[in-house]
Amino acid sequence: MGVALFTLGGTIAMAGHAGGRVRRLTGAQLTAAVPGLADLGAPPDVHDTRAVPSADLTFRQILDLVGEASRAVEAGAPGVVVTQGTDTLEETAFLADLVWPHAEPLVLTGAMRNPTLAGPDGPANLLAAARTALAPEARGLGALVVLNDEVHAARRVRKARSTGTAAFASPDTGPVGHVVEDRVRILARPPRRAPLPVPADPAALDAARVALYTAALDDDGALLADLPRTHRGLVVAGFGAGHVPSALAPVLGALAERVPVVLTSRTGGGSVLRNTYGAVGSETDLRRRGLVDGGFLDPYKARVLLRLLLAAGADRAAVTEAFAAHG
Ligand code: ASP
Repeated sequence: MGVALFTLGGTIAMAGHAGGRVRRLTGAQLTAAVPGLADLGAPPDVHDTRAVPSADLTFRQILDLVGEASRAVEAGAPGVVVTQGTDTLEETAFLADLVWPHAEPLVLTGAMRNPTLAGPDGPANLLAAARTALAPEARGLGALVVLNDEVHAARRVRKARSTGTAAFASPDTGPVGHVVEDRVRILARPPRRAPLPVPADPAALDAARVALYTAALDDDGALLADLPRTHRGLVVAGFGAGHVPSALAPVLGALAERVPVVLTSRTGGGSVLRNTYGAVGSETDLRRRGLVDGGFLDPYKARVLLRLLLAAGADRAAVTEAFAAHG
């Protein structure tokens, strides 16, 4: 049996515009454009699932996709490839990684240059993703992101540039491997955590809204006052190692008494600190006010984890424990 291929849309499938509408390639058209794919063995088992810009994907759709991919693996697929837009891929990959229960790789890929441009990267990325999904070396690594012949762990990867084929990076670790010629070389094996439960109730997932707020120079957080009326949790992207203006600290402290508030860094790399700075608005002060330490998780990934936890009914202690394990 070949890999199970799920297509969700995005640039990799964008074949131009006709009559004001985007023309999107099907999975069969995508795979037909990949030289060398047939050499990998049985053809991919294609599931054309969605055809959307990745900005329109939802948590529910990704969790449903993981369920379908899981069934494909249980039916014998040696691995899974998902093609989608690159804009939200760092979030969807992490969401899938948190719940993926199998040793078989779940590999997400996309493209930065669409098929109508000179040198589209979609076919190369799809071939590298399929090789990775089939590679025994990639088993047990959870969800992986493969672009530009690099293999990234879903929990570390970021879309770090808006254009160009080298848009994806893992700032804290680098890629876990590389696709070289016809081989998948895994150079680092990050530890796997036990999969988290998928929320059974779609309504609970929809209700578990988590806001993301970036600290900025001379900001007093007036926007946050009514947040608990609409949201069940908040992720703060703080300065540096987890700092905010002193005027914002009591606002966040008051919120943390009502909903979980997770502290992360807006820098794009590195962890938040725990006990180094002591001023009002520092990481020590914010933790004392009840904010949860986001560790190495970037703000977008912290938001994914918090929403998944809240939708599954996690209380404050469970949230803190999960961030200690995943952050
Ligand atoms: N805007 C596109 C999307 O995320 C970008 C891409 O696919 O690379 O759907």
